[in-house]
Amino acid sequence: MCVEVCPQSCIITEDIPYVIMQENCLHCGNCYSVCPAGAITFEQLNTIYQTGR
Ligand code: SF4
Repeated sequence: MCVEVCPQSCIITEDIPYVIMQENCLHCGNCYSVCPAGAITFEQLNTIYQTGR
């Protein structure tokens, strides 16, 4: 899952939707490449973004 592949541990899962902490994101693409639902896109990572499962 996205949380497990994020090298920066910047996906916060305390609530749904999840929150990506933009200030820590490297835009590496790991999270959206493993998401079976396509809930995360690179364009969305460039803005404040929240995702569900
Ligand atoms: S793109 Fe950002 S949020 Fe996604 S895995 Fe990489 S560092 Fe984490």
